[in-house]
Amino acid sequence: RPFVEIMDVAMRYGGVEGTLALKDCSLTVGKGEFVAVVGPSGCGKSTLMRLVTGLWPMTQGNVIVAGQEVDRPLSSAGMAFQAPTLLPWRTILANVMLPLEVVEPHRRRLRSERAMYDAKARRLLAMVGLKGFEEKFPYQLSGGMQQRASLCRALIHDPALLMLDEPFGALDIFTREDLWLELQTVCQTLKPTVILVTHDLREAVFLADRVLVMSSRPGRIIAERKVPFPRPRT
Ligand code: ADP
Ligand code: ADP
Repeated sequence: RPFVEIMDVAMRYGGVEGTLALKDCSLTVGKGEFVAVVGPSGCGKSTLMRLVTGLWPMTQGNVIVAGQEVDRPLSSAGMAFQAPTLLPWRTILANVMLPLEVVEPHRRRLRSERAMYDAKARRLLAMVGLKGFEEKFPYQLSGGMQQRASLCRALIHDPALLMLDEPFGALDIFTREDLWLELQTVCQTLKPTVILVTHDLREAVFLADRVLVMSSRPGRIIAERKVPFPRPRT
């Protein structure tokens, strides 16, 4: 059984007269598979991500993740979006560790376990070039650096499902390609199921096992291609 099943999903914003952002949108993703969703701006990619993670209620259809219907926000998924959503009053390190509190808010962690996650957060931050910024606050970092911190936050709890919506959008091409390699390494190690939204076809082909193309008005998946092996090199 697929890990993520999106079945005939429709989404209309703002009542019956509102924008029909998605209609009859279906897709399945196998466990450990990395799929990329590409399509023109405004075709509904971000909307699809919000429905799969339960952040918005859908107008029609079903989403099932790990055999369970998604009817509320999925706290177990790792998410990183184009607009970094770091909490301004927390340090970068504390932001990266945030999912640990959200997933099991009432659980008190052992000191050794906290130390382990603290070390892991620092390791992830170092991996994306943010060593030395652990104790800074988000406003002290550039947009691209905040994006990198968001990616670390998405990875801190080894999520089985990783949802990435233009996670490298604000990065220059060099940093972006470095992060592709980092993400590829992380994915080969942890084998999460990944859905990546991007408008960068090279990024999609480089990272994903399968590339899905969305059309607009209303948004749905209209084509898919397996990425040939060996992968194209940057
Ligand atoms: P993409 O991520 O592919 O650029 P979006 O999912 O952001 O596309 O948007 C799909 C359509 O839904 C667009 O027409 C957009 O204007 C509309 N839309 C997105 N978010 C909202 C919202 N919160 N309220 C109303 N319309 C929205
Ligand atoms: P993205 O491609 O990442 O979705 P957009 O520029 O399309 O970026 O949208 C930025 C934000 O604005 C989205 O999170 C969406 O919720 C909101 N948005 C987009 N279109 C509309 C709209 N027509 N009405 C209200 N909010 C919108």
